[in-house]
Amino acid sequence: MEKGEQIVVIGGGPGGYTAAIRAAQLGADVTLIEKKSLGGTCLNVGCIPTKVILHSAEMFAEMKEARKIGLKAYGLEYDWDAIQKRKEAVRAQLVRGVEGLCRANRIRVVSGEAKFTGPRELTVKKEDGASENLTAPRIIIAAGSVPAIPPVPGIAGNEHCIDSTAALSLPAVPERLAVIGGGVIGVEIATAFSQFGAKVTILEALPEILPSMDGQLTAILRARMEKTGVEILTGARVESVEQTPAGARIKANCGGEIKYFEADKVLVAVGRKPDTGSLNLAAAGVAEDKGKISVNEYMETNAEGVYAIGDCTGRVMLAHAASAQGETAAENAVGRAGKKAFDPRSIPSCVYGSPEFAGVGLTEEKAREAGIGYTVGTFPLSANGKALIMGGQEGVVKIIAGKQHGEILGVHILGCRATDLIAEGALAIGLEATAEEIISTIHGHPTVSEAVREAALAVEGRAIHIPNKKGN
Ligand code: NAD
Repeated sequence: MEKGEQIVVIGGGPGGYTAAIRAAQLGADVTLIEKKSLGGTCLNVGCIPTKVILHSAEMFAEMKEARKIGLKAYGLEYDWDAIQKRKEAVRAQLVRGVEGLCRANRIRVVSGEAKFTGPRELTVKKEDGASENLTAPRIIIAAGSVPAIPPVPGIAGNEHCIDSTAALSLPAVPERLAVIGGGVIGVEIATAFSQFGAKVTILEALPEILPSMDGQLTAILRARMEKTGVEILTGARVESVEQTPAGARIKANCGGEIKYFEADKVLVAVGRKPDTGSLNLAAAGVAEDKGKISVNEYMETNAEGVYAIGDCTGRVMLAHAASAQGETAAENAVGRAGKKAFDPRSIPSCVYGSPEFAGVGLTEEKAREAGIGYTVGTFPLSANGKALIMGGQEGVVKIIAGKQHGEILGVHILGCRATDLIAEGALAIGLEATAEEIISTIHGHPTVSEAVREAALAVEGRAIHIPNKKGN
C-alpha cells in the first residue's frame, strides 16, 4: 500500500484505536468510525470502570483491617456517589486522551454506526440522521462485543437482572447480589460488591469458577473468597429467574438438586458475544460464524483487504489481545514489511479478585492434557518479605517448565501485584526463555517479583527461601 492510502477502522475500542494509531504512524490516511464513545467497552463500561470500583472496594476492605498494620481508622464509610463520580472522571480523562491521540496522529474520527454496503464499501449513519459513504482499499473491523443473554427463562426483560454495564452504575450497592456465571466478570464484580458489604452468591454451572485458570491457584482464590463471605456454588446451572416484589428468585439445578436463591439484583455474567449484527457483513462477503468474524493469523478475513481484530473475532476477549492484534492488522494492512503473524502465546489473563490472579501460557491441566512432560515450581508469598510487609501473604507463584529443556510453559500468580508481575511470565514465554534464564535475572529486593525467581528456582529444586521437595 502506498503512503497516504486510505484505511478505515470500524470501532474505537483498545483494538480499533490502536490499529488506527499504528496505521497512521505508518503513513496511512486513517478514518476511525465509532458509534458510541472512543475507548470502547474497556474504557467506558469495562476494564477501567470496574477497576476504579474495585480499587475503592479493596482500599475499604484494607482500611477495615487497618489495626493489623498499626493504624486506627474510625468512622470508616464509603460514599457510592463519590466513587461513581471518580469512575466517570477517570473514564472521561482516558477518553479525552484517546481523542487527543487521534488528533495528534491526524486520524479522522467519524461518530456514527458503520454498515457494509458492498466489498470495501460502507455507509455511516450519524447521530443527526445524516449518512456518509466511504470506500477504502483496507478496512479493519474492531467492532467489539456485548454481554450475552442466556436463554434462561425470566432473564430477558427482568428489571432486576443486570449486565456488567448496569452493575457498574447501580444507584447503590445492593444488599443481596446473585451472580450467574463464575467467570472473570462474575468474580470481579462479586469481589467488589462483597467488599462493600453486599451478601453475594455466585452460581456457576461448571465444576469450578474461572475454568480456564490454573486449578490449584483457583481453589486457593475460591477458599479466600468464601472466607470473606462470598457464597460460591459450582455445578449450579441456573434454570429460571422469577421477578419478586423485592428483586428476583433464582431456580438452580445444583447437581440434580433444585435450589432457590433470593436476591435484590442478579448479575448475568455468562460471557459476551461479538457486536457484529448490524455490520451487514454479508454485503462485504466477510465470513462469520454466529457473528464471530473468521480470521487467520495475519488478522485477515476471507474478504480481500478486510481485517478483523479483538472481541468481534470471538477468540480471546481481552483488551490487551485486541490492541496487539490491532497493531498486527495495521502493519499488515499498510503492508510495507511483509506479512506479520499474530502470536497469541504470550497473552496473559488477569483477574482482579482479592487477591489478584494472573496466568500466561499453559495451566498444569492443559500441560497434562497435552501429554507434555513438565516440572512445577511453586513459591508461597508467605515466604516473600515484600508480600508479608503488604499483608499479601496469601498467594502463590507457580511456574510450569518443560521437563527436558526447562523452557517456561506457563506462569500462574495468585497474590498481591499478580496482574503486574505476570508481564515477566509473558516475556519469558515470548522469548522462549528457560527457568534458568529467569534465575539468572537478578530481581530487586524487597519486591514481590522475587517470588517469581524463587518459583523458577523451585522448578530446579533449589529455591533458597523454602525447603525444596525431594526429586523436584
Ligand atoms: P466467561 O465466559 O469468562 O464466564 C461465564 C461463566 O458463566 C462460565 O464459567 C459459564 O460456565 C457460566 N455459565 C453460563 N451459563 C450459566 C448458567 N445458566 N448458570 C450458571 N453458570 C453459567 O464470561 P464473563 O465473565 O461474562 O466475561 C466475558 C468476557 O469478558 C470474557 O471473555 C472475559 O475474559 C472478558 N473479561 C475480561 C476481564 C479481565 O481481563 N480482567 C474482565 C472482565 C471480562
